[in-house]
Amino acid sequence: MTRFQCADCEHQHTTATACPRCRQVRGQVEVCRSHGARHVARCGPCRTLARSQTGL
Ligand SMILES: [Zn+2]
Ligand SMILES: [Zn+2]
Repeated sequence: MTRFQCADCEHQHTTATACPRCRQVRGQVEVCRSHGARHVARCGPCRTLARSQTGL
């Protein structure tokens, strides 16, 4: 299951639309399985996530 981390309170959750704790809609970052929420440019999964998030 895809997990997300709130950039506001750093709470990890599975809700893509908003943080269940602080209800922050923006700043929900997908958590990479290999290294966490911080995206790495060389990471394959991160590229896929970034692509899906930008809608390209
Ligand atoms: Zn939050
Ligand atoms: Zn990654």
